[in-house]
Amino acid sequence: MSDRWERALELMPGGVNSPVRAFQGVGGRPPFVSSARGPYLRTVEGEELVDFIASWGAIILGHAHPDVVAAVVDAAARGTSYGVPTLGEVEYAEQIAGMLPHVEMLRMVNSGTEATMSAARLARGATGREVILKFEGCYHGHGDAFLVKAGSGAATLGEPDSPGVPGGTAATTRIARFNDLDSAAAALAPGDVAAVVVEPVAGNMGVVPPEPGFLEGLRSLTDRHGTLLIFDEVMTGFRVGPGGAAGRYGVTPDLTTLGKVVAGGTPAAVYGGRRDLVSRMAPTGPIYQAGTLAGNPLAVAAGIATLRRIERDPGLYDRLEAMGAETEERLGAALRRHGIDGTVQRVGSMFTVFFGPKVVRSWDDAVTVDRDRFARFFHAALRRGVLLPPSPFEALFLTDAHGDVLDGALGALESAIGDAA
Ligand SMILES: *Cc1c(COP(=O)(O)O)cnc(C)c1O
Repeated sequence: MSDRWERALELMPGGVNSPVRAFQGVGGRPPFVSSARGPYLRTVEGEELVDFIASWGAIILGHAHPDVVAAVVDAAARGTSYGVPTLGEVEYAEQIAGMLPHVEMLRMVNSGTEATMSAARLARGATGREVILKFEGCYHGHGDAFLVKAGSGAATLGEPDSPGVPGGTAATTRIARFNDLDSAAAALAPGDVAAVVVEPVAGNMGVVPPEPGFLEGLRSLTDRHGTLLIFDEVMTGFRVGPGGAAGRYGVTPDLTTLGKVVAGGTPAAVYGGRRDLVSRMAPTGPIYQAGTLAGNPLAVAAGIATLRRIERDPGLYDRLEAMGAETEERLGAALRRHGIDGTVQRVGSMFTVFFGPKVVRSWDDAVTVDRDRFARFFHAALRRGVLLPPSPFEALFLTDAHGDVLDGALGALESAIGDAA
C-alpha cells in the first residue's frame, strides 16, 4: 500500500483531508481503513484495530450500528438530496429539541465549523457587537474568527495561528484562559463582546473539565455584560450525557452548537438555542445563512436513528461512565506503577492520558506535555492493535461497543505506557 500513500501525498496535502490524520505529531504514516464494525477498524491489510478515535467522537454506539446503517440505506434508496423540506427534518428537530430543552429553535448545517461560524454571526447580528471571546486551547472549527490559539490541530503542527486569517478578523477575537474567570471578566469588561464561546468540557487540548463554578461564572458574567453565551457542544453534545454538558453541569447557554454524535457519523451539524435569537436568521430575520445540502436526508436519517437509540436506552450513559471510570483508574495506576509523571483526565466517555503535567487546567498546562513520550506510547499501542488519536492534545473516545474489548485494550495500553517509560 505504500505506493497508494505516495499517491495520496502527491494529490492531497499530507495525504489527508484533515491535518491531524497525517500522523505528523507521532511520526510514521496512517493506515488506510477499509471498514469498521463495533469497536474495530479494519485496515486494507486486513488488520483489526481497537479504535479510540471513533471518528473524533462522532461515533458513540459503535461503528456500523445496525439501526444507523438501516436508516441510511433506507434513506439513500429514496434519493440522496432534494433541496426541498422533508418530514425527516421536522422529526429530527423535534428529537433534538426534546432532548435539549434550551434548544428551542435550530438550524441544520453540514459541519461543526459551519455551526460555530453561524452561531457567531447570529450573536454579532443580534447584539450589534463584533468581538468574540474564546479560550486559549479551545477549538471551534476552522472559521477565521476562531482560528486563534485553537488547540490541538494547529498545536500538533506547531502552528499556533494560521496565515490567511485577516488581521481585522483576528482583531475581533479576544482570548481568555480556560478555567480562569478573572481572565474572562477582564476580557468582558469593555462591554463590546457579542458572545463568549466555550467548549464546556474542553476536548481539543486533551480533556480538561470545567472546574466547579467556571461555567456558572461565565453565565453570570455574560448576563451582566449583555453578552451571549455559546456552548460549543460539537464534541460534548450527546457525548457526556443525554443533555450534553449543559445538562451535566446544569448551566444553560443562549446558543448551542452540535456536531459529531448528533449526526451519527455523517457530515451534519446543528446550531440552535433561544427562539428570540434563532428566529432572527433568514428568512424570518435579516441574518443570512444557508446550505444546499443542509438537512440532508442521509444525515437526518443517521441522526434520528442515533438519537432515538440514545433516548430509548437509559443504561447507555451508565455503561459509558463505568467504562470511562475503569479506563481512568487502570491507566492512572499504570502511570504511577511505571513512575511516569502525568495524569488521566476524563469526563464520561472522553479522556486523555497526559504525559508530564500532574494536572491540566488550561492550555498553559497542556502545552507542557512530553510529546516524545506520547509518540512512543502511541506507537506501542498501535503495535498492540490499539489505535489512538495521533496527537497528545486530543481526546480518546469510548463507544457502547467497547464493552467486550475494553479489558484487553486497556491491558494493551497499560503495556504501552510501560514501553513509553
Ligand atoms: C470537531 C469540533 C468542531 C469542528 O467540527 P467539524 O465538523 O470538524 O467542522 C468544532 N467545535 C468542537 C468543540 C469540536 O470538537
